[in-house]
Amino acid sequence: MDLALPEFLAHAVALEQEAAERYLELADMMEAHRNDDVSSVFRSMTRFSQLHCDSIKQRVGATVLPQLKSWQYRWTSPPEVGGEEGFDYMIEAYNALKYARANEVRAMQFYRDAADQSSDVEVRRLAKEFASEEAEHVAALDKWIAMTPRPSTTWQDDPDTLPPVV
Ligand code: ZN
Repeated sequence: MDLALPEFLAHAVALEQEAAERYLELADMMEAHRNDDVSSVFRSMTRFSQLHCDSIKQRVGATVLPQLKSWQYRWTSPPEVGGEEGFDYMIEAYNALKYARANEVRAMQFYRDAADQSSDVEVRRLAKEFASEEAEHVAALDKWIAMTPRPSTTWQDDPDTLPPVV
């Protein structure tokens, strides 16, 4: 993935905007289910993403950015589960945190690849910086995941295992 600077910046702005929107949704969802601690985690992640997005936009300045296709930056959907379990899936703070983590890892990987593979010095420099910010977000989520009780439903005991098809 050898991105030119405008393409790289377009991805970075879109990734951060998407993250801010998804975190806001997660924060509202946690608040609705009275999980104020995890809600405030997601609110601060919303803030970080917005701040990062603003600083990238300053860096963009007058540069015209290319349009991206939505699949190039949207978060992956939360796992779908049949029946009532599916409805409950993201209500569980643990699952919401794991979902956010998976998407942070994805962003981190994107920046790492850009840092390793771009032939543009400035892209490599920025990508390295952004990758380490994402690594901090992953670490922050890991801290919360470790403190959050796992849902009791059996298949969820191993979040990496897909639920049985019913
Ligand atoms: Zn992040």
